[in-house]
Amino acid sequence: MSKSLFRSPRGTRDILAPESTRRHQLVNRFGEIAERSGFGLLESPIFEDVSVFQRIGASTDIVTKELFEFNDKGNPPQRLALRPELTAGVCRAFAQHRPTVPWKVWYHGPQFRYERPQSGRYRQFMQVGAETLGSDDPHADVEMIGLGLSFYEAVGLRRVRLLLNSLGDVESRSAYRYALTRYLQQRSTELTEQSLATLGVNPLRVLDSKRPADQPVISEAPVMTDFLTEESAAHFQEVQDCLDGLDVSYELAPRLVRGLDYYTRTTFEFVTDSLAAAQNAVGGGGRYDGLVESLGGPSTPGIGLALGVDRTLLACEAEGVLAEVSSAVRVFVVDTVGGSQAVGLCDRLRRAGISTDRAFDRRSMKAQMKLADRSEARIAVIVGPDEQSEGVVSVRDLRSHAGQQKIPEADTVKTVKRLLSTLS
Ligand code: ATP
Ligand code: MG
Repeated sequence: MSKSLFRSPRGTRDILAPESTRRHQLVNRFGEIAERSGFGLLESPIFEDVSVFQRIGASTDIVTKELFEFNDKGNPPQRLALRPELTAGVCRAFAQHRPTVPWKVWYHGPQFRYERPQSGRYRQFMQVGAETLGSDDPHADVEMIGLGLSFYEAVGLRRVRLLLNSLGDVESRSAYRYALTRYLQQRSTELTEQSLATLGVNPLRVLDSKRPADQPVISEAPVMTDFLTEESAAHFQEVQDCLDGLDVSYELAPRLVRGLDYYTRTTFEFVTDSLAAAQNAVGGGGRYDGLVESLGGPSTPGIGLALGVDRTLLACEAEGVLAEVSSAVRVFVVDTVGGSQAVGLCDRLRRAGISTDRAFDRRSMKAQMKLADRSEARIAVIVGPDEQSEGVVSVRDLRSHAGQQKIPEADTVKTVKRLLSTLS
C-alpha cells in the first residue's frame, strides 16, 4: 500500500462506520432522555471570543495550556478559540438572549483541548451535556444527576459510580482555601514540582492532581465539607436526601474539585471501574452560580453536566455492552443488463422507505452478488437478461438462500415490503 500524504492531526481520529453509527445512537439516546425531561436542544458556535473561555478559570490547564487559539482575519483581528467545553458558551448565550428561566438546554458536539493524546484522551472529543440556568433548587441538581444516570443505564453500563461533593459558596470556599493552603504548605516537600507550582496559583487545583506521588498528601488534606456555611451545608444535605429518596447510590468524595474553576456547591463525577484511572471519568458536572454574571449577564445560578461520548463507548466496549449495529441496508439491487433498471428500482424502493443499495460499474453477476452479501442486505432484487426480456425481476432471500421467485417488475415494492415484514 502506498503511504498517504496526510494524516489526521495528532489527537484526532476519523471515525468510520459502524463506530460512527454507535456514537450517533448514543447522542440520540441522550437527546431523547433529555427532551423527555424538558431540555431543549441548543446549537451554539464551535468557537467563541477567547475571553468567554477565560471565565472558566485563569489558572486551569484548560485555559492556560489546552486552548486552540487563533486570530481571525479582521482588522483589528478578534482573538478566538475552539471551545474546550460548552458550559461557558451556554452561559454566554444566556447572557446574550436572556431567555425566561429556568432555561433548560441540552447539547452535543465536538470539544477541543490540546492534551497529551492517549487512550480515552483526545484533542477533539465528543460530549453530550445539559444545563439548567436560573434555579438553585437542589431538585434541579438531582434532576441533572438523574439525567446522567439514566443515560448510562440506557446504554447498558453497570459499572458507573457517582462521586458527589459540595464546593460551597464563595464564603465557604475562602475559609477552606485558607486552611488547605496552610496544610499544603506544611507538606510542600512531599508534593511534585507541578503541584507546587499549582499551589502558588490555585491551591484547590492541587487536589485534582492525578499524579500518584501527590496522593498521600491529598488523601490527608482538610475537606471542603467541614467548611461549608450553614446555607451551603443545607443545600448539599437536601441534594443527598433527595438522592436517597430516589434510591440513587453515591459516594461522598470530599476532595473532588474537578478541572474547572467555576464550580460552586454541588459537584459530581461519574467514574467507571472498567477504564484505567487516568481516564476513568466518563462524565461530570456541577453548579456554577457565578458564571453567567462573570460573562456580563444577570446574577443567575446554574447547574450542568457533560458526558464524554468517546469514553462512554470505551466503557461499553470494556463491559461488553456495545449495541449491535445492524446493517442499514435491507435490499440490494443487482442489475447486469446495464444498470439503468437499477436506477429506477433503487429510486422506487428508497422512496417507499426501504433502505436499498446497488453496485456500480457494470460488474459481473458474481461480483454484484458478492457485494450484496457483504452489504448484509436481507433481499436481493435481480435484473439479468432473462428478467429484462420477460419484464420481471427476481427476488432472492439472501440469508436462507431458499431459491428465488420471479415477479412483475411493477410489483417490486409491494413484494419486497411483504417479504421484509415476514422474514425475521
Ligand atoms: P479528566 O479529569 O479525565 O481530564 P475532565 O474533568 O477534564 O476529565 P470535563 O471537563 O468534566 O472532564 O468533561 C466531561 C467529560 O468529557 C469527562 O468526564 C470525559 O469523559 C470527557 N473528556 C474530557 N476531556 C477529554 C478528552 N481530552 N478526550 C476524551 N474525552 C474527554
Ligand atoms: Mg481534563
